Amino acid sequence: MMAIHFFFPNFEGNGKKSFHQASFVSLRKLHHVDSNNLVKHSCKLTLKALSPSSLERQNVRLALQVFNDNTVGALKEVGNRYEIEHFEDTDEFIRIILTWWKIMNVKSLTVGLRENDEFKQPLPYMANDEKVQFLDNFLNWLERWENMDCKTGGLSKETHAALKVTTNATTEIAVYCNENFGLNFILPGKFQTDNLESRFGLYHQMSGSNYHISIRQLFETEKKIRIRSLLKLGISSKTFGQVLIMNTDLQDFGDVDEGSVVLSFWPSIHVDDKDIEGVREVLGPLTYIAGYCVFIVVKKLKCDACKSNVTVDKTIEIDENYGLIFKLDRGQLLCPTPNAVNAVVHNYIIIKKLCFDFEDDFIASENPRKIALKLSENYLNSENLFEHDCDNKHSHEKILKMLLWSSTNIFLNNYCKEKNNQSIKQTEKQKNRKLQTLK
Ligand SMILES: [Zn+2]
Repeated sequence: MMAIHFFFPNFEGNGKKSFHQASFVSLRKLHHVDSNNLVKHSCKLTLKALSPSSLERQNVRLALQVFNDNTVGALKEVGNRYEIEHFEDTDEFIRIILTWWKIMNVKSLTVGLRENDEFKQPLPYMANDEKVQFLDNFLNWLERWENMDCKTGGLSKETHAALKVTTNATTEIAVYCNENFGLNFILPGKFQTDNLESRFGLYHQMSGSNYHISIRQLFETEKKIRIRSLLKLGISSKTFGQVLIMNTDLQDFGDVDEGSVVLSFWPSIHVDDKDIEGVREVLGPLTYIAGYCVFIVVKKLKCDACKSNVTVDKTIEIDENYGLIFKLDRGQLLCPTPNAVNAVVHNYIIIKKLCFDFEDDFIASENPRKIALKLSENYLNSENLFEHDCDNKHSHEKILKMLLWSSTNIFLNNYCKEKNNQSIKQTEKQKNRKLQTLK
């Protein structure tokens, strides 16, 4: 809906001027006035928001940089001083759209109170409410605008229709909810298509930021999104909360020098039935990871005896936990034996315990990977939980170590990645907080 100029009628319908002109040029001037100052009048306005590409015009975040209280205040503040043309009309236009936006996007009971903004409070059913009256005026204003019949500088027919329908429907819903359910107010922000839009946003992104995606791409991305939601495998960290494990970066097998691993100060970790029961929900993704680990073993050793020890025949589907492997299979994936899955499950539980109960020591240690590996190895060996025999003298210790090294890498890589993301977010938050105190 962004044109350079908007010609629109008076909102109240009785002003001196019947004809107003809002202009993007005024906003660009405002931005220009601010551009050399460290302290800005319009702190939310960016160049990108003022010169959006055709695709960016639909970007709500950019639009909100223009339509916000700061811009309104800033135009009033500097309009006269810098002789910005049409600043009053532009200001008025932004105020109208912004007020409408606020009313329509209320999603919580308290946001209006918190921000001390009457227009961000829930929409009541009473006719004498300020917000209800605004919406009425808004509809009349749209009507008059449409009747002005301007060739340029107006909203498109579609936008007009959409605005009218949305506004009308919202007030109708408030009345309906009052009459039928006795509700005194509604939250208009709950009646909208944001979730649908974010889904479409994902489609575009996952198809290489392509706006016009094909049906095939749609099905493919939908499949990806669903698989991703199946992979909600996590480690609870005391500091960072739930850390998700994904299969995005599976690394190659590395050599382990166990000599440097110091275990003496680690308390012995036990895996009991309750722990095993606790991971039942994520057994699918764990089976998938185990499949990757046995694939690495098979690839490295090129030994048929070992292969038949750690994999099962893919043509016989054993149980639902193999489902993910079948969904993602392009012929390369292997189905691990329950024996191998069991080893990976134990590894996962032990790493979870390390990250939750002993996080500080664990991270500070010289080589967390080797510690996690060694603990898992020792545990499985001492409890005789991993069986393996091979005619080519590949010991069960060796196979177990290879398996666990791969899975340890996967779990800890994901853990580190998530941790980094979270600390970046935290620094940004701190930065913002600093900026705000400076304001
Ligand atoms: Zn072998």
